[in-house]
Amino acid sequence: MRDSFLPFSPPLIGEEEIQEVVDTLRSEWITTGPKTKEFERRFQEFLGAPGALALNSCTAALHTALVTLGIGPGDEVITTPHTFAATANVIEHVGARPVFVDVEPDTLNIDPSRIEAALTPRTRAIMPVHFAGHPADLDPIREIAQAHGLALIEDAAHALPARYRGQMIGSSRNPVAFSFYATKNLTTAEGGMLTGTPDFLAKAAVLALHGMTRDAWKRYGKEGSWYYEVTVPGFKYNMTDIQASLGLHQLRKLPEFHRRRREIAARYTAAFSEREELVVPVERPDVEHAWHLYVLRLNLSALTIDRARFIEELKQRNIGTSVHFIPVHLHPYYREKYGYRPEDFPVSYENYLRSISLPLHPGLSDRDVDDVIEAVLDVVREFRR
Ligand SMILES: *Cc1c(COP(=O)(O)O)cnc(C)c1O
Repeated sequence: MRDSFLPFSPPLIGEEEIQEVVDTLRSEWITTGPKTKEFERRFQEFLGAPGALALNSCTAALHTALVTLGIGPGDEVITTPHTFAATANVIEHVGARPVFVDVEPDTLNIDPSRIEAALTPRTRAIMPVHFAGHPADLDPIREIAQAHGLALIEDAAHALPARYRGQMIGSSRNPVAFSFYATKNLTTAEGGMLTGTPDFLAKAAVLALHGMTRDAWKRYGKEGSWYYEVTVPGFKYNMTDIQASLGLHQLRKLPEFHRRRREIAARYTAAFSEREELVVPVERPDVEHAWHLYVLRLNLSALTIDRARFIEELKQRNIGTSVHFIPVHLHPYYREKYGYRPEDFPVSYENYLRSISLPLHPGLSDRDVDDVIEAVLDVVREFRR
């Protein structure tokens, strides 16, 4: 057994990031400025996106996208219960109603075949999440959105970099929101990016900075002027140059990070796929998985312990894990407001009860990966039925 605890998902920050942050701190501009603009340019280029707007979180990006689209009270937005609460919270923030649609049993992404039954005359948008980094089945979702005049907003917090049918997630014209939270595939500590068309992002940028028609960088620069107008009561969602300093170097390293994530996922799958007590994650042939999470599912009927005990046993073997996610409809706010029962979305609920996210990040050594594999197989051997 391992003698030191293996944390679930620490960030991987190098000397380059540290030096760039120091350089920013020593400069005369620490908030949104030249480094944020450079990060936006490079991110857009990396994805082949029509445009990119750096913000202070993915939650801010999703919220700004909804407001930019004019979605508000009386409207409904279709999304998945199998996600982090932020996906649904932003729909509440604009006064609209999140309408959950259950997930596919293999990918745990929103099930396109169930969306049409959830449409009402009030439906305005569909918000799929690329769970764990596996792209949602976008073609049928786009078809439904087009047929019913609905907006499509992607929660791509896990999907960097990922491809659906050859197309990079974030390269399409609809709004797509990325997260740079500490545990995500690219981190700026806190941060996010909204991609979409330049026209859409120009409106979103005004909303994301107080509703002001000129941003502070231009106002205080040499060519700037003191005059601005507030056209709408906007938010304070801008990214700082300190965050962008991290992002610039994380983005350079992203292809190597992704290669390593893929390699680790393949090692886990090779070790676990033959065990009847375990179900390994899928990667459909028409996608490229971002491998943000490695969600191992337990075949509970083949084990004498539940998921909570399995996690406890791994912890005793010095392996840190997590659970993604507690389905949104189980949280008291949503349960009480909308009267949900756990079984209302049975695929999401049943998979929640048997999911464990294993450590998956580029800082893991081969030895660490072997330790995780050994610990999981040891628990299985001890508690198989
Ligand atoms: C992390 C996460 C978010 C929120 O990202 P922030 O940058 O922390 O706001 C949204 N959706 C999903 C699916 C996430 O995992």
